[in-house]
Amino acid sequence: MINIILSDKAYENDFYPLVKAFYPEETIKVFSSEEFIGQQQEDLLPQQENVGVQVDKGLTVEIELFEEYVLLRVGNQLDWQETKIIGSLNSLTKAGYKNTIKRGLYQVLSRLVERELPWGILTGIRPTKLVYEMLEQEVSEEDIRAHMDKEYLCSREKVDMSIQIAKRELVLLQEMDYQKGYSLYIGIPFCPTTCLYCSFTSYSIARFSNLVEDYLEALEKELVYASTCFPDKKLACIYFGGGTPTTLSAEQLDRIIGKVKEHFDFSHVKEFCVEAGRPDSITPEKLLVLKKWGVDRISINPQSMQQRTLDLIGRCHTIEDIKEAFRIARETGHHNINMDIIIGLPGEAPEDVEDTLRQIKEMNPESLTVHTLAIKRAARLNLEKDNYMELKASEVPKMLEHVMDFAEDNSYLPYYLYRQKNMADNLENIGYSRFGKEGLYNILIMEEKQTILALGAGGMSKFVFHKENRLERVDNVKSVTDYINRIDEMIARKQDFIARNDLWN
Ligand code: SF4
Repeated sequence: MINIILSDKAYENDFYPLVKAFYPEETIKVFSSEEFIGQQQEDLLPQQENVGVQVDKGLTVEIELFEEYVLLRVGNQLDWQETKIIGSLNSLTKAGYKNTIKRGLYQVLSRLVERELPWGILTGIRPTKLVYEMLEQEVSEEDIRAHMDKEYLCSREKVDMSIQIAKRELVLLQEMDYQKGYSLYIGIPFCPTTCLYCSFTSYSIARFSNLVEDYLEALEKELVYASTCFPDKKLACIYFGGGTPTTLSAEQLDRIIGKVKEHFDFSHVKEFCVEAGRPDSITPEKLLVLKKWGVDRISINPQSMQQRTLDLIGRCHTIEDIKEAFRIARETGHHNINMDIIIGLPGEAPEDVEDTLRQIKEMNPESLTVHTLAIKRAARLNLEKDNYMELKASEVPKMLEHVMDFAEDNSYLPYYLYRQKNMADNLENIGYSRFGKEGLYNILIMEEKQTILALGAGGMSKFVFHKENRLERVDNVKSVTDYINRIDEMIARKQDFIARNDLWN
């Protein structure tokens, strides 16, 4: 248990993730100085019932912000192990001010735990975005390296990888004239079963099959509206995600994709991707429907090729099912297939990842997306964590090394990267692909470079204002029943936003 005491709690989102990155296993509570003092006084009165926040007596990180300096103390309050004063903050920009304090905090924590973090003080989910923007401004690679080291304490290895990825992204985005268009995300929030680590909007099809027809009806209504949003703009990418879109029957898939085709102009579309995701949802009929409508990229996601892991994470299918799904995808004419794997799954060791990669090599997909396990608050893996304590994966960085070597040996180039909160060893997710087979939508969504209309339950539309270099989000409700019942309101939210904002000037 760790307490963070902040004299100004407005900085919670800046300092908490960095402390968490050093202590991923610990529960961390954040207090303002007043809350903390109040709690201590209550603790001195043992007869009195505690009514405030509970303070644990573990490690404490205290950050006091004064006008001209910051006092940083780490330890237990009777015996501070580290005390640091950070000065010369007056002339800094807001970002520079935060980064300076974060660097001080990083140095203190890194000394205490005797460990460096590969991404330094960067805790956000898009580290490549910084590098991308510098490349866009024609900053030299040498200066980018120096900046990422000095300002963010990033390791050389991560900066080199970010530069390689951002350069690739820059070329791909320039080729597609992204500023003049928009993309479409369509969410199908149903899955065969719920995976242990899942934190998405996902409903088990067995339990909620009665909602599917009403859901599709609402989605069609939103689709028809969406087709009227930007009549003179080019539709660039369409991405069916979820959930698992192929949980729908072949007829339902045919109907919903047909609706998209009927209402949108496909003449400028660069990519039409469907996450087939779970092998236990894939049939030849569904793959033929995708082919019929021109879907040119699909994902078949094993996550692991170890049967005991699949059983443990609640994916009710076999290794053979994965291979069979892949085989029929090829047979039905799909020649751009991505496979997702997760490293750091419970109970897996580096040898398991090696074996998974060996089996993936036999299938030879065009791209491979490698996630590092992130334990999200709402996932069963977190809620039932006591059951899985002994199964914690070891040596995640070593697994990632295996993946990188495998990618290099098999001509998979990294082309996008993002991070999530609470990732194993504070690492990252990387999309690799063969040259020319990159998933364009993945780059657009990660670099936040293009307006994306997101339809369906849990959809989060992102509207990009290019001239002002900013974006705004408009979300849909997450619950399927709310989405069905409030579809007119979901449409009105987008309608109001678009009417109030001039996106294209
Ligand atoms: S397939 Fe994806 S969306 Fe569906 S339950 Fe598993 S993790 Fe969640």
